[in-house]
Amino acid sequence: MTISIIPLCVGILRNLPKSILVGAKGLNSSIDVPSIMWYLKGTKENIIVDTGPSVPLGQSSHLSSVEKTPDHEIEKVLASVGVCISEVKIVINTHLHWDHCSSNKLFKNAEFITQRKELQYAIAPFMSHQSAYEPKDNFLSVINRFNLVDGDEEIIPGVQVIQLPGHTPGHQGVLVKCDNANYLISGDCIGLYESWDECLIGSIYVNLEEYYASFKKIANLDAKILPGHDEKVFSTKEFC
Ligand SMILES: [Zn+2]
Repeated sequence: MTISIIPLCVGILRNLPKSILVGAKGLNSSIDVPSIMWYLKGTKENIIVDTGPSVPLGQSSHLSSVEKTPDHEIEKVLASVGVCISEVKIVINTHLHWDHCSSNKLFKNAEFITQRKELQYAIAPFMSHQSAYEPKDNFLSVINRFNLVDGDEEIIPGVQVIQLPGHTPGHQGVLVKCDNANYLISGDCIGLYESWDECLIGSIYVNLEEYYASFKKIANLDAKILPGHDEKVFSTKEFC
């Protein structure tokens, strides 16, 4: 089976403090970044990685505002790659922050693969992380369709989840073997290309030791990085 990866824009986070993506280097600056949903073309399950924000949004409690135009609507975005939302059987969530999973509820026929540790923490996070999860609005209504994994696991041949904690307790990336290269969909472990190039950790994390260990683990994967919020990914239509 030949698998390729198509990045799809499902919203724009406006005026995000850049420090969230690159730490101290981003102090005193803000940035507009895309919310990215990834389609793994060539899989019979029509695998999606992350689903982005939904509307209506509880924007006041978040660190950025969200722009979600009709062009960012999931059904329309999927139609642009020839997929009907009801045909998606597997959604992999890199983690359960609101801007990565709020649209899970739109995928009526999918199971949601995430790390057990992530769901456990997301249900009852410490106060400083509550607005990042908002379980009631974002994923509790579909909790019976979560398929929980513990650690690195092959989902289908050529697609593997890789545990990369630090940003959150159960954060994971998705390693995809394409014909010409291996790619790591890194989620928020790596926010921008410059985060990886300069080894910059974002300002939101739960465990710094684990975060740096995750960077080390990625370095040993022999994979090209697809960062969580870098608009430069859209300069390539399809990674293969
Ligand atoms: Zn996050």
